[in-house]
Amino acid sequence: MASQQTSEQKYVYDFAEGNRDLKDLLGGKGANLAEMTNLGLPVPPGFTISTQACKAFLSTGAQPDGLAEEIAAHLSTLEEAMGKRLGEPADPLLVSVRSGAKFSMPGMMETVLNVGLNDASVEGLAAQAGGNERFAWDSYRRLIQMFGKTVCDVPGEEFEHALEHAKQAKGTTDDLDLDAGDLRALVDAYKTIFTKHTGRDFPQAPLEQLELAINAVFESWNADRAVLYRRQERIPADLGTAVNVVAMVFGNLGADSGTGVAFTRDPASGAQGIYGDYLANAQGEDVVAGIRNTIPLQRLEELNKPAYDELLAIMARLEEHYRDLCDIEFTIERGKLWMLQTRVGKRTAAAAFVIAAQLVDEGLIDLDEALHRVNGAQLAQLMFPRFKLGPDLTPVAQGIGASPGAAVGKVVFEGRRAVELADAGEDVILVRRETNPDDLPGMIASRGILTSRGGKTSHAAVVARGMGKTCVCGADALDVDVRERRFTVDGRTVHEGDVVSIDGTTGRIYLGEVPVWPSEVVRYFEGSVGPDEADDALVAAVHRIMTHADGRRRLRVRTNADTGPDAARARRFGAEGIGLCRTEHMFLGDRRELVERLILARADDERKAALADLLPLQRADFVEIFREMDGLPVTVRLIDPPLHEFLPSLEELAVHVAVAQERGEPAAKDEAMLDAVRRMHEQNPMLGLRGVRLGLVIPGLFAMQVRAIVEAAVECARGGGDPRPEIMVPLVGAVQELETVRTEAEKIIAEVTREQAVDVLIGTMIEVPRAALTSGQIAEAAEFFSFGTNDLTQMGWGFSRDDVEGAFFWRYLELGIFGISPFESIDRDGVGRLVRIASEEGRAARPGLKLGVCGEHGGDPDSVHFFHEVGLDYVSCSPFRVPVARLEAGRAVVETAGSDSR
Ligand code: PEP
Ligand code: MG
Repeated sequence: MASQQTSEQKYVYDFAEGNRDLKDLLGGKGANLAEMTNLGLPVPPGFTISTQACKAFLSTGAQPDGLAEEIAAHLSTLEEAMGKRLGEPADPLLVSVRSGAKFSMPGMMETVLNVGLNDASVEGLAAQAGGNERFAWDSYRRLIQMFGKTVCDVPGEEFEHALEHAKQAKGTTDDLDLDAGDLRALVDAYKTIFTKHTGRDFPQAPLEQLELAINAVFESWNADRAVLYRRQERIPADLGTAVNVVAMVFGNLGADSGTGVAFTRDPASGAQGIYGDYLANAQGEDVVAGIRNTIPLQRLEELNKPAYDELLAIMARLEEHYRDLCDIEFTIERGKLWMLQTRVGKRTAAAAFVIAAQLVDEGLIDLDEALHRVNGAQLAQLMFPRFKLGPDLTPVAQGIGASPGAAVGKVVFEGRRAVELADAGEDVILVRRETNPDDLPGMIASRGILTSRGGKTSHAAVVARGMGKTCVCGADALDVDVRERRFTVDGRTVHEGDVVSIDGTTGRIYLGEVPVWPSEVVRYFEGSVGPDEADDALVAAVHRIMTHADGRRRLRVRTNADTGPDAARARRFGAEGIGLCRTEHMFLGDRRELVERLILARADDERKAALADLLPLQRADFVEIFREMDGLPVTVRLIDPPLHEFLPSLEELAVHVAVAQERGEPAAKDEAMLDAVRRMHEQNPMLGLRGVRLGLVIPGLFAMQVRAIVEAAVECARGGGDPRPEIMVPLVGAVQELETVRTEAEKIIAEVTREQAVDVLIGTMIEVPRAALTSGQIAEAAEFFSFGTNDLTQMGWGFSRDDVEGAFFWRYLELGIFGISPFESIDRDGVGRLVRIASEEGRAARPGLKLGVCGEHGGDPDSVHFFHEVGLDYVSCSPFRVPVARLEAGRAVVETAGSDSR
């Protein structure tokens, strides 16, 4: 409770008191403003109200005790530094009130500029600006607009309509054509809107404006769009935002003023150079909002060479200081440069790899740090396909490639519609003039985002890049008419539902569906492009960092594969064996008939005959897999799903039989089948006759599989191969189950390998909680454990894995019961604890017990780190995720090693 905070609690920090490591307390923006201040860079003076104050405010709805006094004290220091007082009529100090959380949440929370202006000080501001009345009235109308919308929930469109109306009356479309008189009239119109919605006059007292603006920024932490963004980006909900109160500097004082955003390297490709956007005679938010088209930063050199040179020097200094790509926001006020923000910049997945490798070459970081700075999610993105561009394929328009990838989908113009169509299974491209934070749900639902306005730093670009979503922005050849749900380009009209293809790397837009090409990174992993042949900085960087990860990791990475081609592909991706071969696929297709015979067999000899027919087919499958994985371990799991999964559906069959009977048609075969299906029907098949239970109930089934595995291994060994089979028993809950299977299997192994020795391991899955809790006993009968974390999660939580994610997980995520589905990322505290117990007790009973995981979690980055910590020997995942697991296994080592020094 805020009121219980001790009176010594400090909530407010001058910029000179902070540093970049205090992001928890000061938020990212505040910590970096402090860092820049202490580096001696030109930062306007100001102070930061901590995230602690925000949390206290949000828990009680009021500012905590002592905060107002601290703010007053820091304000007076600020006033002294500036030689002006907040809102003083003759020469007002104005401040901005800016949000800034620990993790950047672009455009999600609020900012209010020009706090301190009122009916009197607007005149003083004009006088101080050399009689620039236009500037003063423009600043005032911006304050009323931002304050009204942010602090008092006045609908933003009302202000926008009034502004549009003023421009129409003047016969212009450009804000800059409005003169002081027009803006003064607009202020009156804005005030009327404000009063209409709030029932009070626009507050004239500067301190009241400040207090209300600060509270509104605190509250914006819980705005819907901020909540949604956090959920999407997995940012914890309880961090709160800091609030930065900063002396205003103005980019809208005339042609010698302006504002811009820059990156120290290209955030899209990682290439070195000067990347940024500049907008003359504009105030901060204009650039980010993408409202007017900006000019490239290089052109600032012609407009203001000294400021440009100073900016470049500062950017070089920041990059060296942060040892990373930085992005910055700056303002030039009458020729003088001011730094408003810096941070280690968001970047695309490709740029992350390229920049990390470049920084190693520049001697700024070592390879461990480079590995730490990339991640598996980025690598997965780079494995997405790209467009296959034929020579005759011409783009219909060119925008700015803001977030790479190739996206194809039906055009939609509203976020709501994007969500509807995506829910119905359609791929959609959200087309807007520009996006704003309200478009977030639609952006999440879309394959790609296309805008006709705004630069690389517009809202659409920044948010899409953060989400790894393809985005083309600033395609100004598109005339977008959202109301009519269409755009025109190059004389053609594209309606909602028409298909377009957008290339977020080149910015090109194509009408219709363009076929896609696999990524260079995938081609590299597959061995079809070498790291040196490709004139491609990205492939070279990936190669270098992956090689380092492989050298550093302790965890082996295997794959889940059930066919020869899958095994071969995974091996090219770096798989070091198979961790799970699910044998049940071998019971499908044209073998279904044999399986039906097995299930329907009434007598022993019928069943034996069916098994004998299945044996050579299974053996041939295993031979193919052992050959592809020659010299590497292959864990083959005996059949797991309930047998009735291989029979027709009960409902369909019942109808079929009933119809046949009604018509008097012969249906003996179907009736027998219906009988069998009824006999085998289970209310909870996931908890029923499957896995080892099936093997113990159907005589000869597991024996046939064991024989097929071992005979295949013998065949490969005879041919000079090096097969390494590991037989895995699923769904074991008690050691006696495993012992029974083991005794039978050992007899078969001894018999089949009499003339050709092959080492065969026998182990078990740990996927029933009881197995985890009795792992000491089970280890006596198992040479290896493989954690089946899918079932372990299902049975640990009591969540039916086929139902719950679609049924109610949204609510659990909303309530914060978990931040991510436990089927996607391991629940460390619960299911993870079962893994830990089983590992420790298993190894205590059998030192050297081999431990692995083969549930879906084996390819999930966070889970890989957990399995490293627990001390497993390997993870196993689908072929496509093998490189991701290799990378993350390496990262897990450097992160554990670096946690003291980093
Ligand atoms: C598991 O349960 O984690 C597992 C790998 O087995 P399956 O997904 O086939 O049940
Ligand atoms: Mg399982």
